[in-house]
Amino acid sequence: MTEIKLAKNAGFCWGVKRAIDITLQAARHRKKKIFTFGPLIHNPQLMELLKNKKIHTISDYKDIEQSDIIIRTHGITPEIRGEIRKAGHRIIDATCPLVARVQGMIKKFSGRGYAIVIVGDDGHAEVVGLKGFVKTSVHVISGKEDVASLPPYEKVFAAAQTTCDRKRYSDAVNELQKKYPVLEAGDTICEATYTRQDEVIALASETDLVIVVGGRNSANTKRLADIAGQHGAQSIRIETEQELSADRINGYQSIGVTAGASTPQWLVERVVHKLKKLTDKGGYSLFSLAEAMRFLTKSNLLLAFSGSGLAYINMRIMNVQPTMPLIAVSFFAVLATYLAYQLLNASNLLISDHGKYQYHAKFKKVFWSMALFSAVAGGAISLNLGALQGLLFIALVSVGATYRADTLTWKVLAPVAKLKDIPGSKDIFAATAWGVITVIIPYLSAEKNPELALPLAYTFGLIYIRSLLFELRDVKTDQVVGREVLPVLFGAKNSSFVIYGILFSLGLVLTGGYIAGVGDYSLLVMLAGLFIMLWFVYYSMQGKWERSTKFDLFLDAYFLSVALMVLAIDSVKHFSA
Ligand code: SF4
Repeated sequence: MTEIKLAKNAGFCWGVKRAIDITLQAARHRKKKIFTFGPLIHNPQLMELLKNKKIHTISDYKDIEQSDIIIRTHGITPEIRGEIRKAGHRIIDATCPLVARVQGMIKKFSGRGYAIVIVGDDGHAEVVGLKGFVKTSVHVISGKEDVASLPPYEKVFAAAQTTCDRKRYSDAVNELQKKYPVLEAGDTICEATYTRQDEVIALASETDLVIVVGGRNSANTKRLADIAGQHGAQSIRIETEQELSADRINGYQSIGVTAGASTPQWLVERVVHKLKKLTDKGGYSLFSLAEAMRFLTKSNLLLAFSGSGLAYINMRIMNVQPTMPLIAVSFFAVLATYLAYQLLNASNLLISDHGKYQYHAKFKKVFWSMALFSAVAGGAISLNLGALQGLLFIALVSVGATYRADTLTWKVLAPVAKLKDIPGSKDIFAATAWGVITVIIPYLSAEKNPELALPLAYTFGLIYIRSLLFELRDVKTDQVVGREVLPVLFGAKNSSFVIYGILFSLGLVLTGGYIAGVGDYSLLVMLAGLFIMLWFVYYSMQGKWERSTKFDLFLDAYFLSVALMVLAIDSVKHFSA
């Protein structure tokens, strides 16, 4: 069996993620087309999606009338920047701050009379931009072998293109040191490049073949393939999984996969998936357990059962008799909302999660039928419970399903529509909606006045944690590109503190509730569930279960499992009584 190893940081680098975020943000707030000065990244499908969002690529600002122009990560010369402004265009600057730092260094040393030597690819957009900051002399060399042909200077400042091979740069600097009496060398290779180069060196030593996924004209993709070759492995560069065939990988016992800084994570995943299929001698079964699990999570069926489970637990704490209609309302509300939301926002998945996009495209009709049936059935059952319950169901499903889409619902709700632009508002809405469905609707249907605070706190806290965990997992990859969520705004570390804080508080609330006699042993089962969640959070933070079906399965099945534990104890007690 061929072993497949994936580099940990294969996917967009920080600078590219930031540039896409800036671009999508700009497009969201403008009605007119906007333009990127050169392709934002080298990926045809992503470029196609950007076109759908009225984001087009230009190679010359003179080709268009006064517009908004995005400067991509590589940056541009001050001269071109001035000309663009003079032509009446508005500049939106997505130059990577690390490139801007190198521009600043070159400007400073050139201003002090230093000649500039750039180690990189002459003609590459970043290098062209860097050269524009030089007021003295500038030379672009590809390595130490070019140093001999450089003219004499009194003082020289050396800089590397941010994606330069570090050995190539250090060799060139050593050579420059021998030649020039005064040499200053900038530490200009970016961290993302270092990390990727370290990983490809490790992959080259552990595998027989290294596959580098990335655009044909991506300099850093080419460099990664070169480095793999220099460290003893065969290497090939591909743009998509379609370029892979059994012939190309035949005879290799272990294969490493990495990607350039502008390659989307989902493209890398498709390559790994194809490799697994090509190397799996046991064949591929459509009806495997793994496929069934995948369907349960992707169709949101498991999550809907968890909705019922949570309603059951909450009713137990509230001392409300769990009835089928109340349990069914939660099931249908979750299924209708999540399915319709994902289907209405399917185009966004193209940019963030291509695998999921394809899955939804494949089952589009089935999923729409399930969503519509759930909306109608859930609406009818809740109206039968009471007018208020029915209205709450209809309002929450409508708002939740269309949360990110520009639909009639939001035109009607124009005064509050702006709330959804508040970063992180979706998580708060989701937690509140779950609270209404699984606590308030049963509360309204109860005869007595049941306990409300504890089940609301439990539901809100754990649903909020669920959202944060998905975001934390996604923030490690490029799945949050274009989304303003807590881990993006405040960092993964701060978000994890929020999770631990909520878990700790919920632990106190459940313990306090049990001591005060609010609920029975079901509170202890829920407390045990919190410890399991704590364990899951800890392991997820260590980088385990990244973007796997297991991760989705755990979170989707969580409330169902807790409810089944309570139900099992209930049954044992019932039969032993
Ligand atoms: S490779 Fe480095 S310098 Fe280039 S965009 Fe990414 S983070 Fe910025």
